[in-house]
Amino acid sequence: MSKVLIIGAGGQIGSELTFKLRKIHGDNNVVATDIRHSNLDIANSGLFEILDAKDFDAVKKCINKHNIDTVYLMAAMLSATGEKHPMMAWDLNTNSLFHVLNLAKEGLIKKIFWPSSIAVFGPTTPSKQTPQHTIMEPTTVYGITKQVGERWCEYYHKQYGVDVRSIRYPGIISWKTMPGGGTTDYAVEIYHKAITDSVYDCFLNENTELPMMFMDDAINATVDIMQAPSDNITIRSSYNLAAISFTPQELFNSIRALLPEFSINYKPDFRQAIADSWPKSIDDSFARTDWDWKHEYDLELITKEMILQLKKKYTSSEQVI
Ligand code: NAD
Repeated sequence: MSKVLIIGAGGQIGSELTFKLRKIHGDNNVVATDIRHSNLDIANSGLFEILDAKDFDAVKKCINKHNIDTVYLMAAMLSATGEKHPMMAWDLNTNSLFHVLNLAKEGLIKKIFWPSSIAVFGPTTPSKQTPQHTIMEPTTVYGITKQVGERWCEYYHKQYGVDVRSIRYPGIISWKTMPGGGTTDYAVEIYHKAITDSVYDCFLNENTELPMMFMDDAINATVDIMQAPSDNITIRSSYNLAAISFTPQELFNSIRALLPEFSINYKPDFRQAIADSWPKSIDDSFARTDWDWKHEYDLELITKEMILQLKKKYTSSEQVI
């Protein structure tokens, strides 16, 4: 039985990953950690500790204390926040990865999951059906940290045999935990506003097409790549991963089909330039071939589920985190 450590477990993806991994491995075999106590669902529903991903000694101590063999490193500073705090993004995103790679090199842990992002691509990358191997000239600090991280993952695998696995997540849509400062956050915020305000001011323009995915698909992909036999993992930098692509206008139309009173204003801000530098769609055939990746949720299904769950959430006494 695996003993799992999740670093950054309170975040948008980390929180849902924690629930899933607790189901798979058992509550006592999954240690959720974060730098803060912000997500009470996570902190109160199983093993939880405060842990700073930048603190090598603290991470090592936690791994030894709980006899951890597998680490999911989900802590990061995302694209929009990273542009405001470039050096902090660099410090957190790269050093936290080095810490777990070096602990695996020492033999302390056996397996690592570390997410990359479509932000590794830039304006010179072919933007339609972006191939796995292509030009990568990211223009954001976040993208640079992810690209550098991918190179180090591959290096540690080749040079030291570290079993590190990675996915380039697209924008992730979910209803349980709010997103943490990315450029695709509009695709979550819009659903909340559809329930609470009936109008949304979108920070991207109507035609900005981006690759997106529902949380359930993202979690399944994460579990699948980690459960695949090591020999199947032919890419040790990070796998392209795709589900659907849509524009804000297409997303708005899918909500309007269920909530006809809903309206939208387009007020692009600094995040427009970031979105414009990213791919519109992704070729993920390596993931589909190597470890049988397939997505389930299209835009219509996502909208149906988001509206259903958020209506329940806002009408219950439960606080939206
Ligand atoms: P998030 O911002 O929602 O969560 C990050 C979590 O890390 C937060 O709970 C935060 O408190 C924690 N954290 C911050 N600094 C920390 C530190 N020093 N030590 C420990 N914890 C710390 O992010 P997310 O959306 O859940 O993303 C998880 C991973 O997936 C990140 O690596 C991100 O780059 C990647 N990713 C996310 C998306 C997306 O759409 N959400 C897309 C592509 C890639």
